[in-house]
Amino acid sequence: MQEYVNKILTSIKEKEPYNTKFLESTTDVLNSVIPYLEQNPHLKELSLLERIIEPERVIMFRVPWVDDNNKIQVNRGYRIEFNSAIGPYKGGTRFHKNVTIDTFKFLGFEQTFKNALTSLNIGGGKGGADFDPHGKSDMEIMRFCQSYMSELFRHIGDKTDIPAGDIGVGEREIGYLFGMYKKLTNKFNGALSGKGLEFGGSFCRVEATGYGSVYFAEKMLNSHNDTLKGKKVAVSGAGNVAYHVIQKLYEYDAIPVTCSDSKGFIYDENGINLQILTKLKKENHQSLEKYVEHRQYATYTPKEKYHKTRNDIWNVPVDIVMPAATENEININDAKIIVKNGVQYVIECSNMPSTPDAIKYFQENKVKFAPSKAVNAGGVVTSVYEMSQNATFEPLSFEQIDEKLKEEMKRIYIDIAFTAKEYGYEDNLVIGANIKGFTKVANAMIKQGVI
Ligand code: NDP
Repeated sequence: MQEYVNKILTSIKEKEPYNTKFLESTTDVLNSVIPYLEQNPHLKELSLLERIIEPERVIMFRVPWVDDNNKIQVNRGYRIEFNSAIGPYKGGTRFHKNVTIDTFKFLGFEQTFKNALTSLNIGGGKGGADFDPHGKSDMEIMRFCQSYMSELFRHIGDKTDIPAGDIGVGEREIGYLFGMYKKLTNKFNGALSGKGLEFGGSFCRVEATGYGSVYFAEKMLNSHNDTLKGKKVAVSGAGNVAYHVIQKLYEYDAIPVTCSDSKGFIYDENGINLQILTKLKKENHQSLEKYVEHRQYATYTPKEKYHKTRNDIWNVPVDIVMPAATENEININDAKIIVKNGVQYVIECSNMPSTPDAIKYFQENKVKFAPSKAVNAGGVVTSVYEMSQNATFEPLSFEQIDEKLKEEMKRIYIDIAFTAKEYGYEDNLVIGANIKGFTKVANAMIKQGVI
């Protein structure tokens, strides 16, 4: 089976040599599922791998808009409808200057298996644009979102493809996107999730990815007769996911001592102050640099200094590492430092934050490692609760959703840990998550015929 997998990976490398993140993610998933393929050789006869690596649909479009100086700007929009075998396409929208088709192919592929880990019927998709929201006025953001939706609306719908937020896309952007969707379609439905509470949003959706990651972490620690209480945690990012990870960690009496943004990181050994973080990032969209003006003992290290001094966020001595900013944040050099510092757990909250060699190094050095596709599934789970509330017009309370989220995250942990053990890879949650997600998607595809 290794030969079959290598053949598929070589074909990706040859056909799309620039899509390195997509190759990284397909390599991870396909190599992990070899034990399953060996028990199910008919999948090879059915060309299942050849089919599963191809997105069902790739949409790419022009997004023209007018900036505040009356200058016409043009960005590129994308939506990858990757796999609908188990339900309508579902996945976030990212606005970031560096995204390419590679970003969305890898995110859509990962999302397919993440969604399969939930108990819900949702397929995988992802989209966004190479638009940089930094420094844009509110009106520029609105005009951009409206232009983006003026093409996207014809491809999405509450039963076909349901985008949500991601990096650079929060409640404000979803509001503008939804407003335009509604105007163009004359429909008020759940075609977008992450909406404001006043117009069909769900309680706990904003918090869900971060809270869900911490629920997963606590369950994982409990299964090793451990708890989050008193643990020092290095969190990266200062956006939606990082903020709610930090907030929930405090509820479990853990001490989150770092956070970061695209310009630098904060180390506050007494614990990141949530009030300051709220003011800087949530309310004013400012750089973290200003954090130290309010906290005497905290330090700020700008990004340009990381490499010269090797004073990276991952140098901070902690018990647990929870990356929550972006992909490939932890490379092999970071992994070596993390292991040297005696970190016990690496729990991925952002999508694919660790490079493959970093993951291998953690596993070889007995660091307990949890992959993003399981850890951060709480966001998409709660998006589906939002969709079901939109369909039934029956809202649920914050407590009801939070409770369902907690149970779902615990179940995902139990399922993937069990699957890993079942295939002889106890404690290897990467293999457990990939086999568990892959099996569901593969079986659904086979039952639906060659389409
Ligand atoms: P946000 O845009 O709210 O926050 C992203 C944070 O990461 C910001 O602090 C940003 O800094 C920082 N960041 C972005 N790019 C880089 C970079 N290249 N280097 C260093 N820092 C960077 O996004 P989210 O919190 O929503 O998403 C974070 C991660 O979680 C992503 O991987 C996303 O795919 C994943 N995720 C999110 C879900 C959700 O529900 N939101 C669901 C599942 C996964 P700055 O403030 O300077 O821009």
